[in-house]
Amino acid sequence: MSHDHVFGLRTRALHAGTPPDPSTGARAMPIYFSSSFVFDSTEHAAELFALRTYGNIYSRIGNPTVAAFEERMASLEGGLGGIATASGLSAQLTAVLSLAQAGDHIVASANLYGGTVTQFTVTLKRMGIDCTLVPGDDIDAVRAAIRPQTRALYTETIGNPAGNVSDLEAWADAAHAHGVPLIVDNTFATPVLCRPIEWGADIVVQSATKFLSGHGTVIAGIIVESGKFPWGAGRHPLLSQPSPGYHDMNFAETFGEYAFLMRARAEVMRDVGACLSPMNAWLLLQSLESLPLRMPAHVAGARIVADFLRGRDEVAWINYAELDDSPYRALARKYLPAGAGAIFTFGLRGGREAGRAFIEALELWSHLANVGDGKSLVIHPATTTHQQLDDEQLRASGVTPEMVRLSVGLEDPADLIWDLENGLRAARTAAEREALGA
Ligand SMILES: *Cc1c(COP(=O)(O)O)cnc(C)c1O
Repeated sequence: MSHDHVFGLRTRALHAGTPPDPSTGARAMPIYFSSSFVFDSTEHAAELFALRTYGNIYSRIGNPTVAAFEERMASLEGGLGGIATASGLSAQLTAVLSLAQAGDHIVASANLYGGTVTQFTVTLKRMGIDCTLVPGDDIDAVRAAIRPQTRALYTETIGNPAGNVSDLEAWADAAHAHGVPLIVDNTFATPVLCRPIEWGADIVVQSATKFLSGHGTVIAGIIVESGKFPWGAGRHPLLSQPSPGYHDMNFAETFGEYAFLMRARAEVMRDVGACLSPMNAWLLLQSLESLPLRMPAHVAGARIVADFLRGRDEVAWINYAELDDSPYRALARKYLPAGAGAIFTFGLRGGREAGRAFIEALELWSHLANVGDGKSLVIHPATTTHQQLDDEQLRASGVTPEMVRLSVGLEDPADLIWDLENGLRAARTAAEREALGA
């Protein structure tokens, strides 16, 4: 689309990356179920492998249906290009391995998705990439943790499950003052509620499993890069020095602003191989069409549910940046003016037993380990993901015995509240029974 007019987010969610198919006229994106693609000639094959011409070789590195999803996500996030992966965790791994190697270091917020903390502090560490976790709200601590070997800073727009909102401009300033890029996990916000590149982020990663899919059907991830970071400045030898992994190609010299995306695809996707299936890319293209309509409905439902819970005796506290008493309200107003997402935690009076009774009494809310589905979801960490921990260990990990996490879906809010009402009644009975020592 090469005219001056800039299309809005809703239009791009429907059209970006998917012009009508030139050979068949198909208006919807075809699913290219082909592992590999025929070369025009031996010369064409050689040019493709030397990265001197663009085209399809093998679906581990690129596939037309997957490319349509990548292009649409790059458009929605306002980046130069994207790389789709098999999961959110492989998006993170691919992004980090594209700019860091053994001996290098990253600085990350401590308030990250639990799987990310393990990936960074155990798996990356085993590979020789060190990670320092710092309190996500403490920019001085972020700055103090940066070393000469630091290759990136990493945070989440909205932390999972802490619900903290990152001061993205402050993180970006800290990163750029030291010549390193900022990577932001935008899973809980999606580009509808926040576009981190507009606030200085260089790379956005996302679990497409959550709201981007929105139907609980797909595991997928996406990396989008801004194209603004100076990869050739010398801080990233993987990109600014000859790469033995690609016949001594210097990615920064050869590809300029595309250096990161080219190395991520040509070397890391090639070697790690966590590619997205064309079927899943196609499902995601369908889902993205409605993302700009779904996100405001998720937020509206979450506000109604939070207001209901706030008025109840059984509820000790609510942690949602949409509420006026949240310590993250000011940051949410700035970075998430259309709403601080639809996932939040609250505390039930009565602790672990009340939590168990609450979950068991619910009918409509699905009890499972996911977020960002059109169907409302609930989990009580103390009796599920963290059940091996005693109360003291729970508190140390930031998960309290009374904490319940909600992911508010797209049902009629009155039905969600009817169900929660039944859950709270059961929780109250359990808490009373516990207090009597029965
Ligand atoms: C779920 C999630 C991930 C991991 O994504 P997968 O698709 O499950 O691999 C990463 N970050 C956040 C914030 C998540 O919620």
